[in-house]
Amino acid sequence: MLRTFRGAAAFARTVRRLAACGVLTVVLGALATAVLVAAPPPAVTLIRAGVLIDGTSAEPRRDQVILVRGGRIERVGPASAMAAPEGASVVDLSRATVLPGLIDSHTHLFLQGEDPAEGGYDAQLLSQGLAFRAARATVSARRALEQGFTTIRDVETEGAGYGDVGIKQAVDKGFIPGPRIFASTRGISTTGGYPLEGYAPELTLPKGVQIADGPVEARRAAREQLDHGADWIKVYMTHRSWVGPKGELVSQPTFTVEELRAIADETHAWGRKVACHAYGGEGLHRALDGGCDSIEHGLDLDAAAIAQMVRQGTWYCPTLSVYYTHWEPEGTPGGARDRLRVAVHGPSFQRALKAGVKIVFGTDVGGFSWSEPIAQEFQRMVELGMTPAAAIRSATGVPAEMLGLSGQVGVIAAGAYADLIAVEGDPLKDVSVLQRVGFVMKGGAVFKNELEGAPGTRRTAPR
Ligand SMILES: [Zn+2]
Repeated sequence: MLRTFRGAAAFARTVRRLAACGVLTVVLGALATAVLVAAPPPAVTLIRAGVLIDGTSAEPRRDQVILVRGGRIERVGPASAMAAPEGASVVDLSRATVLPGLIDSHTHLFLQGEDPAEGGYDAQLLSQGLAFRAARATVSARRALEQGFTTIRDVETEGAGYGDVGIKQAVDKGFIPGPRIFASTRGISTTGGYPLEGYAPELTLPKGVQIADGPVEARRAAREQLDHGADWIKVYMTHRSWVGPKGELVSQPTFTVEELRAIADETHAWGRKVACHAYGGEGLHRALDGGCDSIEHGLDLDAAAIAQMVRQGTWYCPTLSVYYTHWEPEGTPGGARDRLRVAVHGPSFQRALKAGVKIVFGTDVGGFSWSEPIAQEFQRMVELGMTPAAAIRSATGVPAEMLGLSGQVGVIAAGAYADLIAVEGDPLKDVSVLQRVGFVMKGGAVFKNELEGAPGTRRTAPR
């Protein structure tokens, strides 16, 4: 800016020199062009939707159009009532079902499947540098977007520090493709409450979370993470689990209610929320008494916990699919635990569903490979009795409310971000079609379009 150019004489000398060699004319010409093109009108796109599922309504609508201006949706209405404005691009999805961009409320960009063949969880902390892990996380972010997940709540980096905040910045600044990211940074647990573990006690090893003991340390950990960009705080309220003497699932509690209250109190004062990993039993009850906003996994929700969740408006993010991967061998204590976890999880989910707990779609992807379909979780939810429409809302309008973005994401309505996806087929009859997302738009920009040009679709408009 000229007003910051203090050496007027030097400036005059520079102008004379540039003019003498003809550079000034070129520079001024370029500046004039820049001024002329500096503020192009926002791009306008009209999307034809054969069927529109808007993310919050009970019923789908047929033959709709969505007018997108810049990064936002301007209007939605019947195709018969709205023509394409002059110069608008038209995306013809009239043979497809259009939905809001999906939301996965439980992801780990910095985990890559924990494949035992690749050394499992520990190898990621012991042998992989942060640059390597960040490079892989950029691929994870891209994988989320290409599968139609335009928003994710990423619930801690598993030893990769504040890497999620960096990935989020790189996405937001347009350097890499990826979803809107709610970052939880490092996660918090207690001594004895998180890997790495099982090594010689003389060794000091990295942990997959920030360890804190006592309300003072717990509050400080939350402050540090909030200070460094955490949108959510992730707390582990249970850790190890095993099969108890009566064949029940037992989970080791971590933080006391007093410790969690310190974290929740601090986090809420910053206007943010707390997600608590909790399977069941004592740790789950402490999570609810201590002010948790969302229960992650909730494998074994008992009647009292469910009643408290309904009363307090606590969100439930069940993450069903991940518990079907990497079972330890049958006949071993770990194998028995892995099978019991799945056996109790389904009935737990069904009790919560029946009681009206607010359920959000979450997968724990990263715990299983990012190459697997994230949307497989929809089938698990439907198999357990959720309607396809409710399962879709659990990945659209419902988590938008949890994230404080109602009307902004997870919905196709005027004023919302233009985050849209499309699939062939009817996800209300068969949710598995959501595993084959053929069109993705985020913030008004088309990221993927495999549906136009496919049989039955065509571009009809002036370009
Ligand atoms: Zn997780």
